[in-house]
Amino acid sequence: MATILDGLKVSKEIKNEIRIEVDKIVADRRRPPHLAAILVGNNGASQAYVRNKITDCKEVGFKSSLFTFSSTVSEAELLEKIEELNKSKDIDGFIVQLPLPKQIDQEKIIMAIDPRKDVDGFHPENFGKMALEMATFLPATPFGILALLERYQIDTKGKHCVIIGRSRIVGKPMSILMGRKDFPGNSTVTLTHSYTAHIEEFTKNADIVITALGDPNFLKGEMIKNGAVVIDVGITRVEDTSEKGYKLVGDVDFESCSEVASAITPVPGGVGPMTRAMLMKNTLLAYKTSVYND
Ligand code: NAP
Repeated sequence: MATILDGLKVSKEIKNEIRIEVDKIVADRRRPPHLAAILVGNNGASQAYVRNKITDCKEVGFKSSLFTFSSTVSEAELLEKIEELNKSKDIDGFIVQLPLPKQIDQEKIIMAIDPRKDVDGFHPENFGKMALEMATFLPATPFGILALLERYQIDTKGKHCVIIGRSRIVGKPMSILMGRKDFPGNSTVTLTHSYTAHIEEFTKNADIVITALGDPNFLKGEMIKNGAVVIDVGITRVEDTSEKGYKLVGDVDFESCSEVASAITPVPGGVGPMTRAMLMKNTLLAYKTSVYND
């Protein structure tokens, strides 16, 4: 039976470490870090994500602000708010919760965020720095996966890492980070996507498989090799008869994969909470940079 990579437990440890730092900052009579969020429309998942981020801020002692807009908001209005947050001396970092409605050009919005406040790490300047292995904000989900691999001391050097999905926020940055000259990293990386033929030929040869495609239970036990490390990023809401009306399902068929893998992340309680903790870590980093630069 595989070791469970307990993201919930590790994320609590990381948030505790952040809380200790924030308590020291406040004891020194300095203001706490401040994260702001822009939420557009009433997408249930987006609302839940933002609510969680606000809860995390409370837990670690950050101040938080939420700016909500209706789904009919204009691009100009959003850009105006971003400009205001860019200039605010009181706000260290902010996020624009994605996806955005069709009338808004997502690229334009991301480009408008001051890279020094881009705690999601989505701005091309930060993505470029990451790719060049320069210090910057790493996108929260890949950053969380690195932290989990590090805390469990998973050997990544010289290993074959197969990533399924090439999104800008997970798969693509993850492929760069696993191939960097560092720990975790130094892996030989294969980045797969929907046009990859015979994907199981890649996954069967992988020491580490990272799934980020959004297809419930896609990866089966027979698609991985004995002793593989399996990291499941996928979160899909699948309808059920519970009070909520849905449950969260990963891309990995946990039952069959956990019989074969040496280590595996659960859903929920794996990568999700790690992502949340790393946003807090990035905000603390933004705070330290901005306050000490003043
Ligand atoms: P996305 O933008 O939805 O893209 C999905 C990627 O998977 C695309 O690159 C697509 O290929 C690829 N793909 C789709 N079907 C495939 C198949 N059958 N075989 C191989 N590749 C396939 O991805 P995302 O935003 O990264 O989200 C992926 C999943 O992770 C979702 O369930 C999302 O909810 C979850 N997620 C979780 C967290 C977390 O904190 N745990 C954070 C972010 C996302 P093409 O490029 O060819 O279309």
